Amino acid sequence: MNAYSDKNAVITGGSSGIGLGIARLLVDGGARVVITGRSQAALDAAREQLGENLITVRGDVASLPDLDAMADQVKTELGTVEALFVNAGISPLTPFESTTEEMYDELFAINVKGAFFTVQKLAPLLSTGAGVVLTTSVANVMGLRETSVYAAGKAALRSMARSFSGELIPRGIRVNAISPGPIDTGVLDKMNLTEEAAAQFKAERIAQNPMRRYGTPAEIARAAAFLAFDATYTTGIELAVDGGTTQL
Ligand code: NAD
Repeated sequence: MNAYSDKNAVITGGSSGIGLGIARLLVDGGARVVITGRSQAALDAAREQLGENLITVRGDVASLPDLDAMADQVKTELGTVEALFVNAGISPLTPFESTTEEMYDELFAINVKGAFFTVQKLAPLLSTGAGVVLTTSVANVMGLRETSVYAAGKAALRSMARSFSGELIPRGIRVNAISPGPIDTGVLDKMNLTEEAAAQFKAERIAQNPMRRYGTPAEIARAAAFLAFDATYTTGIELAVDGGTTQL
């Protein structure tokens, strides 16, 4: 199937998890895709898996010089962009009592500032009719434990989906948010939890979920691609892909 054969896309945080799932769907559909990430090894592994229509750019979304360099490379490699997935993010647990200023600043620098300036720097390359999709989280409408900083950052991103929609609508560009519930991406391994605590965390999330399971990156990818390419009369929304957790 070549549903995306004439499309160029950029995915920040595309070297693993949800971003890699989106990259796989689009490359399989014939798109040329730039992915970004911080780990060269992870970027190389993604390129190995997905082939020459996947272009990798290493960089930190919290660094404006890195974002400028990324935008230059995207311009050289793709010229124009039909879909931008603003997906890079970290999700450390931040217990309210022990969260430090450093943890707070890092989370907002990557998840919020990084997203804002990614859109600002790449907006000039977006073509008429392009779609931008911001990865938020169900955490932004739920009072989950130990996620206050992450949740506030994702709520900021959800707000930006509306504001960016207003900014970019005169150019025919739509901006929406995709809000994943718990997705099996190995992100638990990055939370610095003990094996036992990680297992407990996962079991709790499954027990709380109406579908009693984690979602997959492929399920998020299909919904994100729908918003980017097919939802041509939709802008400013947040689409929950969460097994019903924010509704039931
Ligand atoms: P992941 O750790 O597999 O992927 C995160 C990606 O972001 C990686 O490619 C990583 O290199 C990149 N990244 C992190 N910090 C970066 C930085 N400073 N600069 C550039 N790239 C950076 O995690 P994931 O689960 O696939 O998460 C992807 C997005 O989905 C995140 O925004 C996350 O908050 C969100 N999300 C995930 C879940 C879930 O359950 N997995 C749920 C809701 C929302």
